[in-house]
Amino acid sequence: MPEKQYLVTPGPTPVPPEVLAAMAKPIIHHRTPQFRALLERLYARLPRIFQTGNDVALLTCAGTGAMESAVANLCSPGDPVLVVAAGFFGERWAAIAEGYGCDVDLIRYEWGETASADDVASRLDERDAKVVFLTHSETSTGVVHDVRELAERCTGAGALVVVDAISSLGAIPLETDAWGLDVVLTSSHKALMCPPGLALASVSNAALEATSRATSPRFYLDWRRTLEAQRKRPPDSAFSPGISLIVGLDAATEILVDEGLEAAYERHRLLGRACRAGVRAMGLELFSPDEDRSAVVTAIRTPPDLDSGEIVLAMRERSGVTIIGGQGELRGKIVRIGHIGYIDVHDVATALSALELALVEAGADVDRGAAVPAALDAYGDGVPV
Ligand SMILES: *Cc1c(COP(=O)(O)O)cnc(C)c1O
Repeated sequence: MPEKQYLVTPGPTPVPPEVLAAMAKPIIHHRTPQFRALLERLYARLPRIFQTGNDVALLTCAGTGAMESAVANLCSPGDPVLVVAAGFFGERWAAIAEGYGCDVDLIRYEWGETASADDVASRLDERDAKVVFLTHSETSTGVVHDVRELAERCTGAGALVVVDAISSLGAIPLETDAWGLDVVLTSSHKALMCPPGLALASVSNAALEATSRATSPRFYLDWRRTLEAQRKRPPDSAFSPGISLIVGLDAATEILVDEGLEAAYERHRLLGRACRAGVRAMGLELFSPDEDRSAVVTAIRTPPDLDSGEIVLAMRERSGVTIIGGQGELRGKIVRIGHIGYIDVHDVATALSALELALVEAGADVDRGAAVPAALDAYGDGVPV
């Protein structure tokens, strides 16, 4: 029998069987009434998930493509921008903005730190920025930044606020309009329960106005072209879209809104608690903060004499469980369990038990048998321990 696989990473994430079945249907042409009806439904549903009255541009590309689209659409070479980075993905903003010739001011925190709104406000006092690029959930460290607070200070300083919510949208609370976020980005293969290949960008009117003044070269990623097609009645797409992925996104977002955003946030909050409780019970040290807000990915320090990458490999070979190691400067030092999207507490328990097994076999000193009961209990689904 082929070995069963468990995917417990912060992207890609498991895809529900209903979504896989929808994507396996014969391809339909995108310029048909059938596909346009699907687009109409999907374009109406996406803003609800972003909690916005703005249009959400649907792009066929990775999440990084959506990040690049934000820089290309909002900035001209030489524009002063501020990047707030406390990990791998925050630093990606700086790399993209530098690639487009922006004049980048960077507030760089140690990886694992949480950005402070006061730091952002005082930097904006010193130097104006046209755009501030933020990260909601820094997937490389497990930290969730208080984007609401950060954004408030940026809007006060007159800057457009762009948020990478790639691993957080649909998993933890994010209110685009109420928090004053001009652009919010995500991709299909995180909490939205689809394969990789689609990206979404909600775009405010102020951001659209900036787009018409920005001189960075762009064509495929030009939001005006995308949104013009989306606003036609019946709606259209500017280019050949990822048809099967979009059929999947329609099915997946229907599952999400049927569950209800509040219920989804609560489930993720409890999954985070369960994972952290299991890690603590094993006697391991958390790298990500031990707080409810960090409900996307739990980052765990591995014992210093072990290479965390080896633990990840051993888990996959021994148990068919895929988690992920550290990125960049955290390579070899941490493992990360993702708990977003189509994940329940038993997926988390499976990941914890496979981690325990791999660590024991590598000779680490962990408390055996304690993690799973603690996780179930913290989820409210077990017999109290
Ligand atoms: C996954 C991720 C990205 C990159 O998205 P891709 O779709 O892989 O390009 C960017 N930022 C964050 C926070 C992510 O979690």
